[in-house]
This record gives sequence, structure tokens and C-alpha cells, in this order.
Amino acid sequence: MSNKKLSVLIPVFNEEGNIAAIVDAIRIVFEQLPPYDHEILFVNDGSIDASLQVIKRMAAVNPRVKFISFSRNFGKDNALLAGCRYATGDAVITMDADLQHPPELIPEMLGLWESGNDVVYAYRADRNRHVGKLNQLTSRAFYKLVNALSDVKLEDGISDYRLLDKKVVVTLNQLPEERPFFRGLVKWVGFQQVGIPYTPAARASGETKYSQRALARLALQGITSFSVKPLQIAIYLGFGFSLIPLLYIPYVLYSFYHHLAISGWASLIMTVLFFGGLQLMILGILGVYLGKLFTQSKQRPQFIVQETNAGCEAAGQESS
Ligand code: UDP
Ligand code: MG
Repeated sequence: MSNKKLSVLIPVFNEEGNIAAIVDAIRIVFEQLPPYDHEILFVNDGSIDASLQVIKRMAAVNPRVKFISFSRNFGKDNALLAGCRYATGDAVITMDADLQHPPELIPEMLGLWESGNDVVYAYRADRNRHVGKLNQLTSRAFYKLVNALSDVKLEDGISDYRLLDKKVVVTLNQLPEERPFFRGLVKWVGFQQVGIPYTPAARASGETKYSQRALARLALQGITSFSVKPLQIAIYLGFGFSLIPLLYIPYVLYSFYHHLAISGWASLIMTVLFFGGLQLMILGILGVYLGKLFTQSKQRPQFIVQETNAGCEAAGQESS
């Protein structure tokens, strides 16, 4: 009925217990759809468990199963980007390996794609289930902070579960960022985008790969990849604080005139410490941007493929 092809793209980092289950779940969904041609493309992001062996075992009996295996862990975002390079479908669906992204949503995504949308992204509607209080708070703070400081606006709870039309994939493949922030990039490229709510399931097997520290790094990445606002903060702070001494001048003149001693040890120390801290912080912000320039100027590849059974028909190779 339909001669369009779909690529389901799944980044994998130590997910040996989930791979068979997700292949099965996807098979069931596609059985109930009009006969779309499809492939399941796993990107093994340097797993140190048996994930790759399990994937290869599946690929041996199921020609739809393709894989790319990295030489080491490059991170989920780079894995997604790699998958986009190798995917051959007219649309790419990215989803997590741990079954937190319900495959039953795929028909709805396809419907919205068929009716002309280029990006269909899923955002968490019920955010209270299966996440701890602390995670909820940090996740909310994450989106607030990224949105306030960055030039791309991300919906609260937007996830890496989405469908991308081929033209979006081709556009993403042309971006040379060494440390991509995939969620932001998808928003940034534009095109016709629509969101659908979903309820995340519990992780099927294994544990989350993201610590609080990794989330903080992701937030920093999200902000500094898309905005130079933090750099401008320094200017405003500088202007603001340089006005304070003006208020102090009348007091000094008054004291001189009346031969009064000017007290000041405590206020001096406070001022030195405060401005010392402020300057270090702003130096740090400068450093983050400088570091980004540095890593990008080396022009290293975004990922290194050690092994694959997927052709490289798609636009661009990794060795750019
Ligand atoms: N993942 C990856 N590389 C990494 C970390 C995670 O490819 O360095 C994959 C992981 O295997 C999973 C997806 O990214 O398919 C989401 O990871 P996880 O479930 O740990 O994140 P959470 O759902 O807790 O945000
Ligand atoms: Mg997960």
C-alpha cells in the first residue's frame, strides 16, 4: 500500500537486556500498520556489555536489523547524529532502547507525518510517574534555564522520541558540530513541527545512564550551543556594579569635610571577595566558549565507526 521506508533509530549504551524486547515491540507495531518498508538501526555507543553481540544475533536472523558500532562511547547525541547519516528511510524515528518511549505511538506519529508535518516530537505529559522528586525538579529547572538563556525554546519535557522527515535528516547531516545537542538542533532547523504528549513507561531493564552531573553538563551544552547570552550577562553586571561606587562618593566627601575616619575593613573584604568570585565566574563563562571554539577548531569527527552492517548510502560519511 505504501512504498515509503522508515528507519527506527535506537542509540544503545549497555542495553543487552532490552534489545530483543524492543525489536519485538516494533515488529508488533508495524504488523498492525499498512505495509511500510522499515529498518531498525541500532547505534552501539561503545557498550561494555553484550549489547553488540545481541544486536548481531538479531541481525543474523532479521534482515531489517542494521547496526553501527562506535569505537568508544561518544554520547547519545552523537549516536543519534550517526544514525541519521546511515538511515535510509524517508523518515527516521528516534527512540530510546529501554522501552520508556512507547512504540504504540508510532502510528500516530506516522499519521501526522503523512499529513504534512516534518518533525513529530513526543513530550512527556505525565511527568510524575517513574521519576524521582529530585529528577523532576532538576528536569524542570533544566528546561527553565535552557529556555531563559538560549535562543531555541524547548518544550518542558521534550524527549528524544520523535519522527524526522528525510529533508530534516539531510539538513541535520550537514551540521558539523562536534558536540551536538540533538534536541536543540532539531528545534533549531525549523520546518513544520508538531508535538504529541506521551506517558513514559518505566525503564524495562538496566539503569539510567544519566547522573545529575551528566544532566548539568547537558544543560550547559544546551545553553552554550545556542546562545551567547551568558557572555552578555557580564556586560550588564559590569555596568550595574560600576554604578555602586558613585553612591559612595558623597559619603567619602562628607567624611573628609568633617574630618571623620572612614571605616571599612569589613566592607573592603566583602567587596574583594564578591568581585573576585564574580570575575572568576565570568572568566569561567568565557572559558566555556573558548573551549567550544578549541574543540571545534580541531575538526575531529563526531564519531568513529568501528563496525557496521548498514550501507553508507545516506548523505555524508563520518570522516568529514
Ligand atoms: N545512551 C547512549 N549513550 C550514552 C548514554 C545513553 O546511546 O552515553 C542511550 C541509552 O542506551 C538509551 C538512551 O540513550 O537508549 C537513553 O538513555 P537512558 O534511558 O539512560 O536515559 P533516561 O531515559 O534516563 O533519560
Ligand atoms: Mg531511559
